[in-house]
Amino acid sequence: MLKVEALKAGYGRIPVVSDISMEVEAGRITAVLGANGAGKTTLVKALSGLIRPMAGRVLIAGHDITGAAPSAATRAGGRLLLDGHRVFPDLSVHDNLKIAAIATGSRREFELLCDEYFEVFPILKQKRKDYARTLSGGQQQILALTQAFLCQPKVLLCDEPSIGIAQALIPTILKELRNFASRGGAVVLVEQQIQMSLKVSDTALVMDRGSIRLSGTASNLMSDERIRKIYMGN
Ligand code: ATP
Repeated sequence: MLKVEALKAGYGRIPVVSDISMEVEAGRITAVLGANGAGKTTLVKALSGLIRPMAGRVLIAGHDITGAAPSAATRAGGRLLLDGHRVFPDLSVHDNLKIAAIATGSRREFELLCDEYFEVFPILKQKRKDYARTLSGGQQQILALTQAFLCQPKVLLCDEPSIGIAQALIPTILKELRNFASRGGAVVLVEQQIQMSLKVSDTALVMDRGSIRLSGTASNLMSDERIRKIYMGN
């Protein structure tokens, strides 16, 4: 679903990530780990077309979207969920969800899916008529994540979805990411919380100063001492 070849990207003329190659198949979750400033957000921004790669290729569901506008990545089936709960503050919760699902399926399908997520996140049901701006930061993050699910993308790029979310809800969010993958989606999960993200992922890569320093199956990496060293700057 997602194929990245020798990607180099950054800001202005300064590269931040380089020589990134990775693949995520349908039904799989790949965790992208790394300390602050390692380049994780820059990577997902480049995968979504939000920043233009300086070199390399990005393919979403077989479509080469390298250098194209973000809309091309969206059309190909990509969806970027950035941190910072970006929702439409002056729309109701329900309208935020409707907008997210606008391009997909029938109204009936939307309502069914919506009900499913209302079960998972009852706060969205409770507040469905309220303006999104009246939700707490964590609740807005849940709304943003649910919007992303309702879009039914082929590739979901999640930048730290657990930020600002009550600790007790994090397992639910991870479970929903797993459910999303089990329906055939591919997920790139950027996370600071190493063990938690490895538990839910199939594969993982660890970035350091813009490059991949370590990669493999999540279960193997869970006991790999090198991760700690990379985080601690050796
Ligand atoms: P964190 O976990 O703290 O979010 P990260 O691994 O996501 O970190 P990035 O946000 O990708 O890292 O940042 C990587 C580098 O790129 C940092 O040195 C950062 O200062 C730089 N950077 C990020 N955004 C920009 C920008 N808009 N313009 C210039 N440099 C930037």
